[in-house]
Order: sequence, then C-alpha cells, then structure tokens
Amino acid sequence: MKIAILPGDGIGPEIVTEAVKVLNTLDEHFELESAPIGGAGYEASGHPLPDATLELAKHADAILFGAVGDWKYDSLERMLRPEQAILGLRKYLRLFANLRPVVCYPELTNASSLKPEIISGLDILIVRELNGDIYFGQPRGLRDAPDGLFYGSREGFDTMRYTEREVRRIGHVAFQAARKRTQQLTSIDKANVLETSQLWREVMIDLACEYPDVKLSHMYVDNAAMQLVKAPKAFDVVVTGNMFGDILSDQAAMLTGSIGMLPSASIDENNKGLYEPSHGSAPDIAGKSIANPLAMILSAAMMLRYSLGRPEQANRIEDAVKRVLAQRYRTLDIMTPGCKQVSTCEMGNAVIAALTH
Ligand code: NAD
Repeated sequence: MKIAILPGDGIGPEIVTEAVKVLNTLDEHFELESAPIGGAGYEASGHPLPDATLELAKHADAILFGAVGDWKYDSLERMLRPEQAILGLRKYLRLFANLRPVVCYPELTNASSLKPEIISGLDILIVRELNGDIYFGQPRGLRDAPDGLFYGSREGFDTMRYTEREVRRIGHVAFQAARKRTQQLTSIDKANVLETSQLWREVMIDLACEYPDVKLSHMYVDNAAMQLVKAPKAFDVVVTGNMFGDILSDQAAMLTGSIGMLPSASIDENNKGLYEPSHGSAPDIAGKSIANPLAMILSAAMMLRYSLGRPEQANRIEDAVKRVLAQRYRTLDIMTPGCKQVSTCEMGNAVIAALTH
C-alpha cells in the first residue's frame, strides 16, 4: 500500500513526523513517499502543487497531508499561494466528501470553553461537500461595479452554485453514515434566502425516500451555529455545503477543547482519500514543538479505516490516543491543571508506547 506523505508548511512537518512514526510501529508494510506541497512546493518548484507531487498523490492508495500556508506568502498572486495546493488536490482527485468526526474525549471536557455538561459525551460527524459552492463557482473576480448604487466602485464577486447531482452525491454519503450511527441526519442550509440552498433542501428531501430508516431534519445555518454551542449533543450526523461546513466545523472543533484534536478524511467515490487534521499550518506556533499531533495521528487512523481496509489498526490507534489522554499527557493547547505537559514529539512517543505495551 502506497501512501503519499505531504507534510506542507508550518507545524505540518512536525505533526506528520509523529503520524509516520505511529504508522511505522504497526505490523504492516506501507510504502511511504514524501513530496513538498504548499509553501514548501512553491520554494521547491515555483508552484504550491508541483506536478511531481500531484502525480504521487494520484497514484498513491491514500494521502497523508499536514497543512499548508504561511503569512509570508500572503503577497503572492492567489494561484501561487500555498492554500491553492489543498484546493487543487481536492478538485483534481475529486475528493468531494469531507468527514469530520467531532468527539469530546471525557478527559478533555475541562479543556473546552463550554460547560462540561454541555459537551461531555459529544460525538458528531460533520459531512461537508468539498468540490462545489462559492469556493469554486464561476464567474468570480474583481472589477468595477457595472451597475447598482455603487456603480463604478471596485467590487469583488463570487458565485455560489450547486448542481442537483453534486447534492445527491454528498447526500448519499451522509445518509449512509447516518445509517451506521443513530439514524439522525441534520441538513444545514440557508433555504430561506438562497436558491442554491433551496435546491439543496429539495434534493435532501427527495433522497430521504431512499433512506426511510433515517430521520432527516433541516436547520438554517445561522441557527445551526447557535445550536452547536447551545445544545451540541442534539446533533448526530450533519451534512452541509462547502462554505457552511468550513465555518461550522471549526466552530465544532472548539467544543472538543482544541482544533488540534480534530481529524478529517476527504474521500472520492471509490473511498480513495486524503487525510489531514482540520486545522491549518499554525505559523504562530511552528518550530516551537508545542503543536498537538493527535488530530494528525487520528487522521492516519481514519486513513487505515476508510482507504486502506485496516479498521482493526485504526481502532488500535484510537484506543492508544484515549489511553494517552487517560494517562494525563497533554500538549499546551489541551493542558489543564494536574496534567503532564509534553512536546509534540513526546506526545507521539506516548501514543507509540500505548500502542506497543
Ligand atoms: P490554524 O488552524 O492554522 O490556527 C488557528 C489557531 O489554532 C492558532 O492559534 C494555532 O496556533 C492553533 N492550532 C492549530 N493547530 C494546532 C495544533 N495542532 N496544536 C495546537 N494549536 C493549534 O488557522 P489560521 O491561523 O487561520 O491559518 C494559518 C495558516 O493555515 C493560513 O495560511 C491558512 O490559510 C492555513 N490553513 C491551511 C489549511 C489546510 O492546510 N488544510 C486549513 C486552514 C488554514
């Protein structure tokens, strides 16, 4: 099984190192091949997604991705910025379904800014569409306003759009996921204002006929943002579009104590996938050995489950993470009084120790 290792920028290389150490501890043979991406890709070849990196990603069975981005590239033209690399991979590899489990481990209920009773036992799965919506819709651009009250003033514009087939495709993923959990699916949209969302809702209602065992409900995105902090445990599986999912999943991350705890999988129609933590490259803490590698390690576990057909190894890693938290090892972002603060590398070593003992 060939795995493309794409560490990227900022804390990406630090946390990917720990995930690779964990993979190397398992009794499995993986062929691991690394390539630069993001700012590192730009430095190596003048483009954030170098051709050789894209080829490696296309031919691998799965991709382990750190994070991309650094403020020092902010002045580059948009197509050369590091973030284009992840958008490009999602698009070229047709990774349309992003799965983000949001789990609050019992040991971390005090690390969240919310009251323990609101979040203890929290276990949500956010299914976010990744290939469409306002991030990719055309036309987009900058121009002088061609009409309206501010005629002639510079304006930026983007297009929100979804086709029925795209909504159906992500809908099936969400309904099937809901089937394997508590059969509750919440579809989040803004159907009271947006035509795109009106179509989204109609398609979800239509799809529900194929999944009579799943209870479908709908919520407007503004209310969903409120409910996520008010009563997050009322959600089980959530399905939403690219932009709403981007925002809500970061918000949901904070329910768990730290964005450093949140893994994710981005998969195509054949379950080939890219696995990455939900956070970015965190340039503010890069090189300080304080980044939490657990989201990255848990992303590797998702890779074993969804793309490599090794659910038992995925379970082993997830159990090891639970044991490490029970042993009170904490990186700075999840540190609470009475726990042992460890570095990025020490956290990786603790997971390996829990795996092997
Ligand atoms: P971020 O997720 O990188 O960081 C937000 C905050 O969370 C920071 O305070 C950071 O220190 C902290 N944080 C993130 N991961 C952590 C971890 N593992 N352990 C401990 N603390 C952690 O978001 P940002 O600051 O908005 O963006 C930084 C860069 O990352 C930007 O260039 C952005 O474009 C990029 N980005 C990349 C991706 C990706 O590669 N998929 C996703 C989001 C943002």
